[in-house]
Amino acid sequence: PVEAGVRTVTVLGATGSIGDSTMDLLRGAPGRYRVEALTANSNVEGLAKLAREFDARFVAIADIARFGELKDALAGSGIECGVGESAIIEAASRPADWLMAAVSGAAGLKPALAAVDRGTTIALANKECLVCAGDFFMQRAAKAGACILPADSEHNALFQALSSGNRDELTRVIITASGGPFRTWAAADIEKATLAQALKHPNWSMGQKITIDSASMMNKGLEVIEAACLFALTPDEIDVLVHPQSIVHGMVEFSDRSVVAQLGTPDMRTPIAHCLGWPERIAGPAAKLDLAKIGQLTFEAPDFARFPALRLAYDALRTGNGATTVYNAANEIAVAAFIAEKIRFGAIARLVEATMNGWVRAGNLAPLASADDALAVDHNARNMAASLLPQIAAKAS
Ligand code: NAD
Ligand code: MG
Repeated sequence: PVEAGVRTVTVLGATGSIGDSTMDLLRGAPGRYRVEALTANSNVEGLAKLAREFDARFVAIADIARFGELKDALAGSGIECGVGESAIIEAASRPADWLMAAVSGAAGLKPALAAVDRGTTIALANKECLVCAGDFFMQRAAKAGACILPADSEHNALFQALSSGNRDELTRVIITASGGPFRTWAAADIEKATLAQALKHPNWSMGQKITIDSASMMNKGLEVIEAACLFALTPDEIDVLVHPQSIVHGMVEFSDRSVVAQLGTPDMRTPIAHCLGWPERIAGPAAKLDLAKIGQLTFEAPDFARFPALRLAYDALRTGNGATTVYNAANEIAVAAFIAEKIRFGAIARLVEATMNGWVRAGNLAPLASADDALAVDHNARNMAASLLPQIAAKAS
């Protein structure tokens, strides 16, 4: 039994960058939260440490080879543990008032859906799972009575700004982009960028995959699709604006031409705190915004020629019928290949485009009717991307 006023929480992807920020917020409010379950991919040490610190009831590790180590690390603690995808799903299924979905990649979809089906409150950081499932995710959440709170900073900003008007008064949303480390680079230099260069994000400290996605602006592409799914927007209602300081996170324009924005220092603990406190506000640990010290906020139009991944996101949204699932799946293959130094940086977007074109030519576009449909498209698109990889790798642009 949990004391009155104490909320039970589960964190999927507890050892990652978002997981770390989430645990930091929980740590800062002792007595207010009780941790039900924590999960990780393969980081046994980090997971066991958190489990003991927060006295979690259940922990799950995806990597089957690490189960023995996890059991050893938790020996004598009384903390239950599980292994494999089914255990991650079990962690998501156990009763908890609030769940953070912060697995990286489409691997987070099934666990997130398990939480959705409980009709709980979900802070959703895992944008790939939303992009993979398409409209289906929010439909299933509505059916189950689950409350989806956007934890991604731009979407959290939109969520906050949207309360200034009604849906039929909304004319446009604007999500900002830092522009990443290659914002001012020539196309030829972006083409040959190294892994170390791609991992140097100017403003945000994040996991490896999303940092590379930020450099290609694939992250912003995923976020355009994420916004369309979360708020039922058309591609024409979503604009991207490059804003190198990452202070204004998102804006909503209404019919009277009022534009309502959310601002804050670039610290993920602010949007996560908004999700954790919602519908109330809790104290956040981020540095206070000091605009006088920052002095200038600048804005520029995104360059679709140097950052084709962004253009492809709009193409995928307009095409629909599983195209956004393909866009995400191909990117996950491309980013893994770039990390393994099998392709150049510029080939990431080329592989995504080739996979999307191949998918359409093969006549594979079809409406997604279920999560299983989305997962099948994800699986087949990964295979197609992997089969196209050698020819994309060989062709230097
Ligand atoms: P990360 O790589 O730092 O952490 C990922 C977490 O998921 C880790 O705990 C890892 O163990 C776990 N994980 C990875 N693969 C898994 C698998 N196959 N099965 C089970 N668990 C797995 O990533 P992150 O930066 O924390 O990002 C997490 C998600 O949040 C991503 O979808 C990302 O796009 C999104 N997001 C991150 C940020 C940020 O600031 N880091 C901002 C907005 C959105
Ligand atoms: Mg974001």
